[in-house]
Amino acid sequence: MITSDPKRLGAQAFARLKALDALSDHPDHLERLYLSPAHRKAVDAVATMMREAGCDHVSIDALGTVVGRYEGRAPGRPALLIGSHIDTVKDAGSYDGMLGVIAGIGVVEALHEAGERLDFAIEVLAFGDEENVRFPSNLSSSRAIAGSFDYSTLEGRDENGISLREALIAFGGNPDGIAALARKKDDIIGYVEMHIEQGPVLDQENRPVGIVTAISGASRRRVIVTGEAGHAGTVPMALRKDSLMAAAEMALAIEKLGAAAENGVATIGQLQVEPGAVNVIPGRVRFTVDARAPKDAVREQLLADIENAARAIAAKRKVAVEIQPFYDSPAAPASPAIMQGLASAIEARQMEARFLPSGAGHDAMVMGALCPMGMMFVRCKDGISHNPAESMTEEDAGLAIAILLDFVRTYRPT
Ligand SMILES: [Zn+2]
Repeated sequence: MITSDPKRLGAQAFARLKALDALSDHPDHLERLYLSPAHRKAVDAVATMMREAGCDHVSIDALGTVVGRYEGRAPGRPALLIGSHIDTVKDAGSYDGMLGVIAGIGVVEALHEAGERLDFAIEVLAFGDEENVRFPSNLSSSRAIAGSFDYSTLEGRDENGISLREALIAFGGNPDGIAALARKKDDIIGYVEMHIEQGPVLDQENRPVGIVTAISGASRRRVIVTGEAGHAGTVPMALRKDSLMAAAEMALAIEKLGAAAENGVATIGQLQVEPGAVNVIPGRVRFTVDARAPKDAVREQLLADIENAARAIAAKRKVAVEIQPFYDSPAAPASPAIMQGLASAIEARQMEARFLPSGAGHDAMVMGALCPMGMMFVRCKDGISHNPAESMTEEDAGLAIAILLDFVRTYRPT
């Protein structure tokens, strides 16, 4: 009988997380960008962890993804993939990404210790290009496996002028080997990713884990409001065409619309005022809108409502408004079978299953095009991430890995 003692699983996970935490390109904080020297060290460390945990084959693919395979009852069976990423942002926390990789290793280790083989193989994946900090690429390491790698990103350059292709070769990777990384649908029965929530919902509700229903789709728009610049002292208030005041009203309307949309969010992250002088009525304002929702129809309605509100405000204030789309990505729904399997594993431990959407993008988003995808969130303190203050407990990690282990042992692909 397999032992899935959460306490032990948590201690093992935290020891591994601590070992990875030491591998940084910066002396004072954690920084491990894709294909950097610290990433190389982390790849080798994870490969060693996978071997020691009992993986039958461990390899590093052409894009630097570490793949550890634990065979099922017979070799060569289709695989359930468990993965996340080991690259980080600059001045990062210790758990974003790494938790999901370590969780997969913990699952293999528990099965291996118990001498247990499943009807399917398990492959643990440690992706390297999730945070998209160094190169203008986007989830390239998981995209390659899902068969959606964008070859134009190979020529994209980092801030030192090094292209992804050059960095990949220096790292020991192989740009010519990328096409071969795409997996066949018949060989993969699912992809599961455990990740810290990166939001405050679970922490506020005092729940250790949650089940992701979908990764929200996201749309970005550039909004240009053009009024009339004028003298701050001589143009009476009633006769102004103040582009900033129009933009301010639009911003408040967008906030309200985002809050009203089902599981939606809307953010204005950039705003520039022109000419930007203390004594000039702003003639032009440019701002960005980032709108997300787990259902595409909700996001599309939210965008339409934002546009209508902006046009109505512009007309009322006698300014012009232009709205330019520059990014749209659809929502990625989680597999009902994986959500149900995770819910059963949670309920078996006398806890209520909490379902919630993921507002952040993850490797799971692209893996969902290859196979049924599911994600499990683990609470992080105050919802803080992408920050050295990112924090979670060993107890939660152990419990979450025990739940993942229970899920894996009972999962029946549909
Ligand atoms: Zn992450």
